[in-house]
Amino acid sequence: MDLYEYQARELFARHDVPVLPGDVATTPGEASAVADKLGGKVVVKAQVKTGGRGKAGGVKLADGPADAERQAEAIIGLDIKGHRTERVLVTEAAPIAAEYYVSFLLDRTNRGFLAIASAEGGVEIEQLAAERPAALAKVPIDPMAGVSLAKAATILTAAGFPGQVIDETAGVLVKLWQAFVAEDATLVEVNPLIRDGSDRIVALDAKVTLDGNAAFRQPGHAALADGEAGDPLEAAARARDLNYVKLDGQVGVIGNGAGLVMSTLDVVAYTGERYGGVTPANFLDIGGGASAEVMAAGLEVIMSDPDVRSVFVNVFGGITACDAVAGGIVRAFELLAEQGTPVERPLVVRLDGNNAEEGRRILDEANLPGLVRVDTMDAAADRAAQLAAGA
Ligand code: GDP
Ligand code: MN
Repeated sequence: MDLYEYQARELFARHDVPVLPGDVATTPGEASAVADKLGGKVVVKAQVKTGGRGKAGGVKLADGPADAERQAEAIIGLDIKGHRTERVLVTEAAPIAAEYYVSFLLDRTNRGFLAIASAEGGVEIEQLAAERPAALAKVPIDPMAGVSLAKAATILTAAGFPGQVIDETAGVLVKLWQAFVAEDATLVEVNPLIRDGSDRIVALDAKVTLDGNAAFRQPGHAALADGEAGDPLEAAARARDLNYVKLDGQVGVIGNGAGLVMSTLDVVAYTGERYGGVTPANFLDIGGGASAEVMAAGLEVIMSDPDVRSVFVNVFGGITACDAVAGGIVRAFELLAEQGTPVERPLVVRLDGNNAEEGRRILDEANLPGLVRVDTMDAAADRAAQLAAGA
């Protein structure tokens, strides 16, 4: 998950990485109020999750509150590389004596971390890497050893930082590393890191990517997610701990195991061509230990998708045998009826594998409305696509 600059800046501040005082604003009036509180010259910065805002007119200096209001007026609503600006960050303006670049990132190729630094910051790093690769230092970080003051000084020396700023900058770099580790980030980047008029080192820009796989031990990170973005069905599925991805077809798909579900999507799309191009409506893997509650939650999410015309439940019984899954389907029908959202669209079920016979018998005896049992994957997919097409 990428953060906005204002969120990344707050994260830096919590870990004692020096940033300029400031606050976020969603209207020109709010921007004026922030500028008034800060006093003096300010910078008004578009908050979009893309770089190169300066060049696109999304970073402007302002003399005071009235000027900040005018700049915010121009920046809010601005389109920067396809991202609409909804907010601005208003910070104190720093006099810049020098601009540097520093970052830490996950280096997948080397299964470790990497520091990248340059004494020639402020410009786009991709451009610097292409034009003057020698100006960039890339230093591997041993994950167990981390970044000490001595290691930080080594990085900065390799990057050509002037001797008189190395001590102070090394201190900032260690804080930045501590933020990277503590927050389970895969990237922290500061461009520019500046030396100001009184020789203080300050992070003027902040870019952070958090590792979504660490969400379970970072309860605070959920609040940083972009509420506006994302599919509402996917959000509902996430709230129920389901592994669900919305697609744009008409056949709802539930299976156990990611590989089986992926091949189910292929088979449905393939056979759907015979019915005028019917395709899967979603990916949903209910995993190995599919209980009645998980089956009910999965059916509930799929049934709340207005695009869904039929549902294909494709289960290969393993550790959780088919009789348990069949019991889960029967119970799911009951649960959904009890809560006033009964299953009303046709459901095709294919059960195979461990205890398949017993599972099929349970479904037949339950005689559920709209449920069709088909025992091979290809024939079941075909039936589901046919039902979705209304044929
Ligand atoms: P980016 O273009 O999206 O990377 O946005 P930045 O936050 O890095 O800002 C772009 C440029 O605006 C910086 O490289 C600086 O040159 C300039 N800038 C940003 N904040 C200040 C400031 O407080 N004072 C001055 N003088 N320039 C600033
Ligand atoms: Mn920048």
